[in-house]
Amino acid sequence: MKLKINLFQERNTPTSVLLIYTGGTIGMKADPADGTLKPFDFSGILEEVPELRKFAMKIDAYTFNPLIDSSDVEPSLWQALARLIQERYDAYDGFVILHGTDTMAYSASALSFMLENLGKPVIFTGSQLPIGEPRTDGKENLISAVEIATAKDSDGHPMVPEVCICFNSQLLRGNRSVKVNATGFDAFKSPNYPLLATAGISINYNNSFIHYGYDRRKGLTIHTDLDTRVSVLKLHPGITEQAVRDILLGDGSRAVILETYGSGNAPCRPWFLALVRDAVTRGKILLNVTQCQSGDVDMDLYATGRTLKDAGVICGHDITTESALGKLFYLMGEYADNGQVKVLLEKNLKGEISK
Ligand code: ASP
Repeated sequence: MKLKINLFQERNTPTSVLLIYTGGTIGMKADPADGTLKPFDFSGILEEVPELRKFAMKIDAYTFNPLIDSSDVEPSLWQALARLIQERYDAYDGFVILHGTDTMAYSASALSFMLENLGKPVIFTGSQLPIGEPRTDGKENLISAVEIATAKDSDGHPMVPEVCICFNSQLLRGNRSVKVNATGFDAFKSPNYPLLATAGISINYNNSFIHYGYDRRKGLTIHTDLDTRVSVLKLHPGITEQAVRDILLGDGSRAVILETYGSGNAPCRPWFLALVRDAVTRGKILLNVTQCQSGDVDMDLYATGRTLKDAGVICGHDITTESALGKLFYLMGEYADNGQVKVLLEKNLKGEISK
């Protein structure tokens, strides 16, 4: 992927942020020629958001080329983002990633696992309306994201050294976020974890829920080896044996995320359980994630869940599918041994599960 950098504002202040523009609605503008939305030249961001000039800080921008609708996001983008953040880590107080909303929760989740010992804010944001539109939510989202990415406590330490999503005046932990609204400004929710901050007249940080566990003596390490051999099987009434067989036993996957009902329940029909057992016996990693938006998997609650546990299915607790995908890509990229991956799936690595 070809990249270019545009430096568009610099002042002699100690605070600095890098805006990384990957694409999405936020950076679009209606082309007067035909009315269609096209990416605008990001070096002109100050004309679109003159409020940014009011910040006494250095703001640089880094533009991906080509810019993409986030429906086209692939793990190669996450690898490029991780490398870019590592390269520029010492030069900036924080990073703001402008990204389409459609897959933002996947990207933020994956980055949370790929960036180890992160001691600076990495804030994803975007918008539902292009930044050039009169009622855009993009300005507000961008301004809040920049403020949060550079916010420090009284000792000069970052307020939120985490990968987050900043949207609609709310700051959410990245690997807890899901896109819940296709058209409204309240596009994201963190159903199983409190907000990390809310932006009102001032920005109120929910300090007791922010993770500050990084080691200041050590730098950032990145993990870019991702194993993407994961399939998702969403259960539904009427699902056929053939469909389940194709996904559970297909050659292409090393792991399958089972999107189950309620607190982790699945059909107890013999053919279904036989296929689950067969997949586990063949060495596949099966992770139980609930289809419900909130609450968690408890495989001891109902006999149907217990049967999955006895068959060797791993409990996903209250992880989102987006986060489960990123966690599996990362763990499978790191460990060739599925036993090790299974042990770590049950552990809370980056605040992605309440355990
Ligand atoms: N399709 C767009 C994207 O995700 C939507 C958005 O940016 O909100 O890139």
